[in-house]
Amino acid sequence: MNFNNNTQTYPAENELDERDGRYLRKAIVWSHAARRRGNRPFGSVIVSASGEVLAEAGNSNTETGDCTAHAEVNALRALAGRNISREELAGATLYASGEPCVMCAGAIFWSNIGRVVFGIDAERLRVFRGERQDQRDAELSCRDVFRASPHRIECIGPALIDEASAAHDGAWKA
Ligand SMILES: [Zn+2]
Repeated sequence: MNFNNNTQTYPAENELDERDGRYLRKAIVWSHAARRRGNRPFGSVIVSASGEVLAEAGNSNTETGDCTAHAEVNALRALAGRNISREELAGATLYASGEPCVMCAGAIFWSNIGRVVFGIDAERLRVFRGERQDQRDAELSCRDVFRASPHRIECIGPALIDEASAAHDGAWKA
């Protein structure tokens, strides 16, 4: 894909209400924390319908050597054993500083979380990732995964693009 092409169309930015903005910014704070610790700059926060933060995490790929340690998966794993019902998770929102990858979208599906709000989208992320094979993602959007789900998963994003992009500036190998 050629990102220097001016005809490239990028997804438009979504407006967020105050609450969604607050929690997405919290996920962005985690993305900076992950980068400071040497990991990919991604963060995620899971919030219940009543506004309780259920879990929050950054990417820990480098620290753990675990290729599945994406921020969303780390946050979802932090829910394990907490006796949070599927009904409660259906009303919860997962905030992600970057658009969830195919693996994370699948994990979100299995969690039964019913709503996702993300910052920078995969297309814009690919500009930062560049053409290096070890940094490229599988080009299937999270919305395609969610659309295949038998239960509804609402998806909002991209949003706060500039703020969510900042952690990626200079974070990927040229
Ligand atoms: Zn992921």
